[in-house]
Amino acid sequence: MALFKSLDNLDDNTNGASKEWPEGDAEKVKCLIIGSGPAGYTAAIYAARANLSPVMYEGMQPGGQLTTTTEVDNFPGYPSGVTGPEMMEDLKKQATRFGTDVRWGMATKVDLSKRPFKVAIDDKTLVEAETLVIATGATAKYLGLESEEKYKGGGVSACATCDGFFYKGKKVAVVGGGDTAAEEATYLANMAEKVYLIVRKDYMRASKAMQRRVDNTKNIEVLYEHNTKEIYGENGVVTGVKLIKRKGEADETEVDVKIDGFFLAIGHTPNSKVFADFLTTDKEGYIVTDPGSSKTNIPGVFACGDVQDKIYRQAITAAGSGCQAALDAERFLGEQE
Ligand code: NDP
Repeated sequence: MALFKSLDNLDDNTNGASKEWPEGDAEKVKCLIIGSGPAGYTAAIYAARANLSPVMYEGMQPGGQLTTTTEVDNFPGYPSGVTGPEMMEDLKKQATRFGTDVRWGMATKVDLSKRPFKVAIDDKTLVEAETLVIATGATAKYLGLESEEKYKGGGVSACATCDGFFYKGKKVAVVGGGDTAAEEATYLANMAEKVYLIVRKDYMRASKAMQRRVDNTKNIEVLYEHNTKEIYGENGVVTGVKLIKRKGEADETEVDVKIDGFFLAIGHTPNSKVFADFLTTDKEGYIVTDPGSSKTNIPGVFACGDVQDKIYRQAITAAGSGCQAALDAERFLGEQE
């Protein structure tokens, strides 16, 4: 049931801190794509069709987080839904059909100070790219509980838009106090019977407008100063959560809430670290792109998908931005000639 669209678990994908460059001659490519979620594959399809002979390195989790999901019902063009792995396999086939060279490997070191851009793959292979498309995604943060791992796919999810549909008339909990948590809680409240919003402080960090939406939604109950102790269930499916209510250091009460779904909304980490010495990022590490384009602060380097989008984070928006990145790369190369 877990339909995370973000490229979760790619956190180590791009975070290598290699000191040395691989020895030997560099392979020269026109368009190098790093990351293989919906953004990366869409960039590959467009770049290949534009004769850029793209080379893609898939990263830690080929196909991205969609490959760990079951049904995807909100991607246009699949009237009966499609499984995440099938969709990513289809995207890969489509990218290779037009000549994308899809390879296993991760970017471990980059030099974007001049063109061609130098990228080390797995510390072993050196690639020199005329254009670079970064599609490394973001990693949803989890609380780090064992029970969270146990029920992933059985009621624990980091994406309400993906999985909310399964909770029509049911009870769910959302953990987090930011804009995402507020948004996910109100989204879920449209279909679930009851939404518990678990906030660890005695206030929410979300914008006032978002908080008003939460407060005005009758079937959301905000549990301030509550922390998640453990998620429990039966036959691999979530049936409840144990919380700790804190009223100061010494005063703790255990609270048991019966739920069918548990949603994480405690933030994401963009997989941008390996590029961060060269690219402008915001304070959370998201790569900054020019509004309405995939252009970064370095001409010839383009970013698409969740690594530069902290707001929408959907497969379809990632795919759209992947298309932009390929078109931007094509135009950039055209201008250089
Ligand atoms: P934030 O980092 O803003 O908020 C994370 C929330 O999760 C905080 O309330 C934090 O609590 C809580 N949290 C973190 N770790 C834990 C933990 N271990 N246990 C319990 N709670 C925890 O992340 P968001 O994803 O909400 O937002 C990221 C950015 O994206 C923000 O800038 C936001 O404004 C933006 N955004 C904008 C939207 C829009 O404009 N429509 C929609 C969604 C996001 P605490 O406050 O105690 O630190």
